[in-house]
Amino acid sequence: MTPVLIVLNAGSSSLKFQVYDVLEGTEPCMAFKGLFEGLGNSAHFIVKDAQGKLLDEMTWSSGDRQGHEEALMHLVSWLRKHQEGRKLVAIGHRVVHGGEAYSSPILVDEAVIQTLEKLVPLAPLHQPHNLEPIRIVRRRLPGLPQIASFDTAFHQSQSEIARMFALPRDMRERGVKRYGFHGLSYDYISSVLKDYDPPLAEGRVIVAHLGNGASLCALKHGKSVATTMGFSALEGLPMGTRCGAVDPGVVFFMLREMRLSPEEAERVLYTKSGLLGVSGLSNDMRVLRANAETNADAKRAIELFVYRITREIGSLIAALGGIDGLVFTAGIGENDVATRAEVIGRLAWAGLTLDTTANRTGGPCISTGAGPTAWVIPTNEELVIAQQARNVLGATQARIAS
Ligand code: ADP
Repeated sequence: MTPVLIVLNAGSSSLKFQVYDVLEGTEPCMAFKGLFEGLGNSAHFIVKDAQGKLLDEMTWSSGDRQGHEEALMHLVSWLRKHQEGRKLVAIGHRVVHGGEAYSSPILVDEAVIQTLEKLVPLAPLHQPHNLEPIRIVRRRLPGLPQIASFDTAFHQSQSEIARMFALPRDMRERGVKRYGFHGLSYDYISSVLKDYDPPLAEGRVIVAHLGNGASLCALKHGKSVATTMGFSALEGLPMGTRCGAVDPGVVFFMLREMRLSPEEAERVLYTKSGLLGVSGLSNDMRVLRANAETNADAKRAIELFVYRITREIGSLIAALGGIDGLVFTAGIGENDVATRAEVIGRLAWAGLTLDTTANRTGGPCISTGAGPTAWVIPTNEELVIAQQARNVLGATQARIAS
């Protein structure tokens, strides 16, 4: 039997999964990937092999009320039925917030769940959805090891000063500080940089994770020294629907003058802002690019996105004391040729020069000349979770055996 582990990334109405073969002595190898969408309404399940070939799909009618629990159990029984040679040995979960407590992945038990639940107020829109499948697995598949991997953990290498807000001390003691997110993506990029450019992996690198969520991370010797996200995943760059950095005075204005409730204000900042809010059209960069010539608001949204990215890169260059390389990753970073060209065009002062042809063909190196280099590197957060789960599992089994 081939041991496999499932990597889960749970959202409010979706459940993304990847299944990895974890044979002794080799890297985890992705065997299938898929997605449940529309959970709680008319759910849709799709599963593909590692090459992207469709293996199976299914749609439930809205009356079936297919939720996260039914989805998870469907996936486990699909594996049993369709993959007789494979045996599920563990589940690895993406969990957005590990707080101060967790600087590395952890084997989940009741005490861990309780600690993670206390962090819900720090990531109210993500943490509850990440924890739900953990509770479901404990109830429905007791005894199956579960490992939590955190988006915050990678940033724990930052200095105390880099993580501080200039707020009263008692607020810091209550955990109000910069945590940073997208750490699994930055961990992946940091780990593969040496395969692209060995000296760069030890240098001063800025990684631009530009997806629906967007942030930047400054790496020195492969470790995070600063990042644009902060206490919450709202801080930093404008995103698909999130505002990025705004003056906190705007929030008081929303509450006092616009008479929004805290929940309404939160919804505006998380779900109605960013590319969607500025364009009034879409959070999807492809749609904005397709309409930018005829729609001034779509054009403005892209211009603001690029402007904010380059301003924040300037700030991270200062934090690093210079720049040796810039890496683009995630949906926009990996695919949007124009965003990469515009960002690099605005960084001529820092010595970056675009290689137009390489940028069009996806690089991986998209710069030319003697200055800092620029790269396109696809991220792989799921592989990091699979590696972390396998390592934690291996260490636990070794402890039990000794
Ligand atoms: P998530 O944060 O949800 O994982 P992704 O990393 O998948 O997001 O990124 C989604 C973003 O990537 C969307 O804005 C989408 O328009 C953009 N994107 C995906 N493919 C392309 C493409 N070919 N050209 C431009 N933008 C793209």
